[in-house]
Amino acid sequence: MLELKNYRTQVHNDWCPGCGDFGILNAVQMTLYELKLEPDQVAIFSGIGCSGKTPHFVNTYGFHTLHGRSLPIATGAKLANNSLTVIAVGGDGDGYGIGAGHFVNAGRRNLDFTYVVHDNQVYGLTKGQASPTLQKGLRTKSMPSPAIVEGMNPLATAISAGYTFVARSYSLDVRHLKETLKAAILHKGSALVDVLQTCPTYNNINTKEWYAGTDLPTKAPRLYKLEDTGYDGNVKDPNNTTEVNEKKIQAIARSFEWGDRIPIGIFYRIQEPTYEDMIANKMPTYKETPLVKQDLYHRDITPLLESFT
Ligand code: SF4
Repeated sequence: MLELKNYRTQVHNDWCPGCGDFGILNAVQMTLYELKLEPDQVAIFSGIGCSGKTPHFVNTYGFHTLHGRSLPIATGAKLANNSLTVIAVGGDGDGYGIGAGHFVNAGRRNLDFTYVVHDNQVYGLTKGQASPTLQKGLRTKSMPSPAIVEGMNPLATAISAGYTFVARSYSLDVRHLKETLKAAILHKGSALVDVLQTCPTYNNINTKEWYAGTDLPTKAPRLYKLEDTGYDGNVKDPNNTTEVNEKKIQAIARSFEWGDRIPIGIFYRIQEPTYEDMIANKMPTYKETPLVKQDLYHRDITPLLESFT
């Protein structure tokens, strides 16, 4: 009988006290537990940054890879063993900066994996430089001057790239994050969950008090849940181009809402053939028998060689 503690490790955690990463780690562990996923059926891949340490703290298979390279390695693992639940984690600098090419092209493939991005708008591990999601004109406490380039919009980029599940959650709302992660893992296809994550050490602008709206005249929380507003990001008929385009435009428009009101929840979801489905069309045994269990070394390739003569 699996218990929550089965997903924890004894590895010392040196994240700063109060870091939003703790909320994400708890949500990941609770998600795996509630989905009753056996630890040896899950693999977590990370890049470089504070978030990169996540695989050390979750008792599953894990690989702390290179900066911006978690997605190609996660892709290789999923292709080799499509029976695994594959999760990639990383920061906004890792995934949307140096890893941006992989971020876009992983979405185009629609491989079945979940990408969890710890989005704190700074490079925390290297002392708080502006990351790709920091808004132009903002200056966090270790920056000598305000950011002079525009922040990118990861949700709009993901929808444009081809991710078939695009959501945003918040590291300090573990219940919402857990439910979002569950939906992302259960989704068949490439899923992005961009998690607004507080970095109390370096981001003194987007703090938990800021997200709670304590600076606003209304004192109302900035974050609101799309599902509470009647918003529906689900495509009912993937073959209906008009509906698909309308849902994409609606999601992208919402993703630019940032200021006194910030939406969280599932922005866009569509069920389309996955990359694995495409491979299975060429290799019928792929779905039932993962590549790692196929005898690839004793195949008779004579017909292939003869085809070149
Ligand atoms: Fe968390 Fe920021 Fe500390 Fe990194 S630097 S562990 S993101 S609080």
